[in-house]
Amino acid sequence: MRTLCEEVGESDTGKEFTFKGWVMHYRDHGGLIFIDLRDYSGILQIVFDENIDKESFIVAKKLKNEYVVSVTGTVRKRPEGTANPALKTGGIELLAKSLQILNACETLPFQIDEESEVNEFTRLKYRYLDLRSKRLKDNLIFRSKFTHLIREFLNAKGFFDIETPFLTKSTPEGSRDFLVPSRLNHGHFFALPQSPQLFKQILMVSGFERYYQIVRCFRDEDLRADRQPEFTQLDMEMSFVETEDVISVTEELFASLFNKLLGIELERPFKVLDYDEAMDKYGSDKPDTRFGLVINNLTDIFAGSQLNVFKDNIQKGGAVKAVCLPDGSNLLSRKDIDELLNTVKDFGAKGLAWTKVGESGILEGGISKFISDDERNKTVSRLAAKNGDIIFYQSDSKKIAENVLGRLRLHLAKKYNLIPEGRFDILWVVNFPLFEYSEEEKKIVAVHHPFTSPAKKDLDRLEKDPLSVKSDSYDLVLNGEEIGGGSIRIHDSKLQGKIFEILSISPEDAKLKFGFLLDALSFGAPPHGGIAFGVDRILMLLRNENSIRDVIAFPKTQKAYCPLTDAPSSIKDVQLKELGIKLRETPGKNIKSE
Ligand code: ASP
Repeated sequence: MRTLCEEVGESDTGKEFTFKGWVMHYRDHGGLIFIDLRDYSGILQIVFDENIDKESFIVAKKLKNEYVVSVTGTVRKRPEGTANPALKTGGIELLAKSLQILNACETLPFQIDEESEVNEFTRLKYRYLDLRSKRLKDNLIFRSKFTHLIREFLNAKGFFDIETPFLTKSTPEGSRDFLVPSRLNHGHFFALPQSPQLFKQILMVSGFERYYQIVRCFRDEDLRADRQPEFTQLDMEMSFVETEDVISVTEELFASLFNKLLGIELERPFKVLDYDEAMDKYGSDKPDTRFGLVINNLTDIFAGSQLNVFKDNIQKGGAVKAVCLPDGSNLLSRKDIDELLNTVKDFGAKGLAWTKVGESGILEGGISKFISDDERNKTVSRLAAKNGDIIFYQSDSKKIAENVLGRLRLHLAKKYNLIPEGRFDILWVVNFPLFEYSEEEKKIVAVHHPFTSPAKKDLDRLEKDPLSVKSDSYDLVLNGEEIGGGSIRIHDSKLQGKIFEILSISPEDAKLKFGFLLDALSFGAPPHGGIAFGVDRILMLLRNENSIRDVIAFPKTQKAYCPLTDAPSSIKDVQLKELGIKLRETPGKNIKSE
């Protein structure tokens, strides 16, 4: 019935076709009218010539941007010198013989493909227009191919795609739940799942052995560029596996996706970093290894420092750590260095010590006059610092020093363009601690979730020294973003009970919240483990976008509002009554007016 714009080429010259689509650009050159016709495949230039077909020319006069048309004509080569190499069909055009307007279009709130001048709120309000832009359309088509390839790969590996409920009980990923009131059980609520964690474990108890699902998860968190209240996970679980098995199937999957979608061969096996090493060298459990600026430990060198801050911190069990910015003296002015002090204060630093490196490794400026020759020689050699570099020091608790320098290295890399474009660094971080102490909650909490298995070698320290116990877990990191994480699970209900105890979850509470899982584990649960990947975040990275909103068809704003549908919105009193709910406050100003 119709041909797609990008299905025709020079070899079709002289042939007749019908195209249907939208008027993208309209140019009236007197006796000639040009339009760029757009359909989902791409763009084709159409020419209406008054002298060749008067009838279609008269109809073409009425066209405006984004009118929907059907046009029939013959393909011809564009005249010498008028080809447009930026378009796939830039060497040809269609000489129109008949034109039918299928629908008109109101004046547009913004021009398609001129998104940079439009604020995001307006783009989201008219998302259907925004999605006509090439960038977003290509992102969504890529997304469709991405999920298709995942399904193809996992189905071939014997995984079953099984759906789990959205109306369920609170799951333990540690975020705030979205709640749904029950009409049939007043005062009772469903929680939307933060992930299918408990159900996928239960499916293992049922004997499915290999499960996956591309599934929406819901977390009521404060939003950032890489977060949405509802987002998509590729969720997987397998029985009778160890960490190496999960790692191996993941690597095969990602190698296949990168190869088929981007033509990139990922080097396998992927790099593996120990959690401690990641914190030590990159100050982060999701290190960006596309550039250097590795953090070095100088604590031993400065143990007897003349600088009281350094000495006192070290005596208190703290650390002195540093990063060296190659060629920093050329990149940063004195003012830039001063401004960095404010930047690191935002990262939680008390100050920022620095020195420049001069000829033959002499340290200059900053704190250089407090550094002895011996300290200097050792520092320069450990950092492999060269003439023109700048060294930034942090002395604090090990944790704060690493965190500050970790964020400083990212800041410097972005600001001074040290991140090579088009590079993908993928790696595993393993050996996470099982627990951490939460200052906020004043208790021990799980680093991943409470169903993560402790490392076997550390089991004997579980009760005596829980904070020293590592877990059987793994995170996958791409270009400094966590794109997936999972673990081998506890499949023994007694051990699970002990973990709840350490997490100060009382047996009654555990029964109330996760009783069904504990029960299931006691009926012959196989050893099992799994992983989940953030689909939106991966797509954002593969498409080189800055926000996950640009790879999601209908995302929400940073305030978790949907300008397209005006959700969330107030509801009728009768609906509340049916649910047995009375509002404690009258609804405030709608979020959209902020
Ligand atoms: N359910 C976990 C999460 O969403 C992932 C996993 O352990 O498989 O973070």
